[in-house]
Amino acid sequence: MALRKLVAGNWKMHGLSSDLAEILEIAAASQQYENVDVALCVPAILIERASRAVPDSAIGAQDVHHAEKGAHTGCISAQMLLDAGGALTIVGHSERRNAQRESDAEVKAKSEAALACGLTAILCVGESLDQREQGAAVSTVLAQLDGSLPERPASDAELAVAYEPVWAIGTGKVPTTVEVGGMHAAIRERLISRYGDQGRSVRILYGGSVKASNAAEIFAVPDVDGALVGGASLQAADFLPIVAAAAAAQPRAE
Ligand code: PEP
Repeated sequence: MALRKLVAGNWKMHGLSSDLAEILEIAAASQQYENVDVALCVPAILIERASRAVPDSAIGAQDVHHAEKGAHTGCISAQMLLDAGGALTIVGHSERRNAQRESDAEVKAKSEAALACGLTAILCVGESLDQREQGAAVSTVLAQLDGSLPERPASDAELAVAYEPVWAIGTGKVPTTVEVGGMHAAIRERLISRYGDQGRSVRILYGGSVKASNAAEIFAVPDVDGALVGGASLQAADFLPIVAAAAAAQPRAE
């Protein structure tokens, strides 16, 4: 079976109700690409309105709490996300690992909570510039995977992994295609050793300064099953050419 590419936008802390028009435009134009999955992870407060506005599109969150409910001021649970019409969530984004000091164990618990609710979980991993310069990029990412992958990928919910080198996020710097390919191959190998054959169908996204001008080259790298896109997902005019590049790329045979 061929694996479709997944292009997910991460709006971070951007977006007001006036930006719903961008979501409508992205959803409408994406429908022409039948071989690509498109998702938008918007600020929590926009999820319900966005999912009502584009009920056939995948709208998601940028984080969920691992607990079902309780005294966790300011947090949302996977069940709440589902209730608001959400279909997916990012977990373990480097901005949360750094600013909120999220540990691998916490990210693992979040991914398990999301999958248990039937939500797609996009689990982010990635090395810092220091770690890459010290030759520790692959070992760092594999250690993050070991600590934060869920015990098992659920059969009725999707786990995806996003490789996002921290130094490439929002900087305009992108690893070479050889570096991306090497890292994705290492991630794939770890997924297979962890989950057996199921590890072959976990989509591995690349994230970090993906834009219209570099998307085709990145999607052509073996084991790149899509992209997690930050800045270039905010405007339909920037995001849609990335979706088009994914549609034009070869799908990966499982
Ligand atoms: C991200 O933060 O997930 C991301 C990939 O950001 P950008 O595309 O802006 O580098």
